[in-house]
Amino acid sequence: MAKSAEVKLAVFGRAGVGKSALVVRFLTKRFIWEYDPTLESTYRHQANIDDEVVSMEILDTAGQEDMLQREGHMRWGDGFVIVYDITDRGSFEDVAPLKSLLEEVKKPKNVTLVLVGNKADLEHARQVSTEEGERLAAELSCAFYECSACTGEGCVSEPFHELCREVRRR
Ligand code: GDP
Ligand code: MG
Repeated sequence: MAKSAEVKLAVFGRAGVGKSALVVRFLTKRFIWEYDPTLESTYRHQANIDDEVVSMEILDTAGQEDMLQREGHMRWGDGFVIVYDITDRGSFEDVAPLKSLLEEVKKPKNVTLVLVGNKADLEHARQVSTEEGERLAAELSCAFYECSACTGEGCVSEPFHELCREVRRR
């Protein structure tokens, strides 16, 4: 029987960037237009990654929790998906402070994360270039993906799978 691993992943990013849409797209391959933005949910998912069965617990944060709750979520997680919206520069500017807070909370451990620029289908409204996303990811030393929860383009599963791999490597 294959080895089994448990990985706790938390998804962070400003409200409205598409965290819930991304998680649900990853889990169901479907896009659902509206979620209660105040809702925080945890999902369980099993995937076969590099011949290993990985059990994920995924926390979809609401993005409007207070500092204490947020730090609790950060302590809980083994790995983090930070999401911004390519049509919302403010959401991109939220990323670096989130990483700093993660480092603060996880000290002295290294923070395992991936960066996702969502809503890649809205090219006409783009405010953050792909190059800027890549540069930020290089600064944060993490993998970078652009994708669309809406159309599924850019392979929505890959960030989650890569994050599992990195958590397992640590
Ligand atoms: P959250 O607050 O980060 O969980 O964001 P939601 O998942 O609730 O999404 C916020 C809004 O953005 C909703 O109206 C979604 O339909 C929309 N949305 C999410 N992902 C995408 C995407 O990839 N493309 C487009 N066009 N809209 C998206
Ligand atoms: Mg949400």
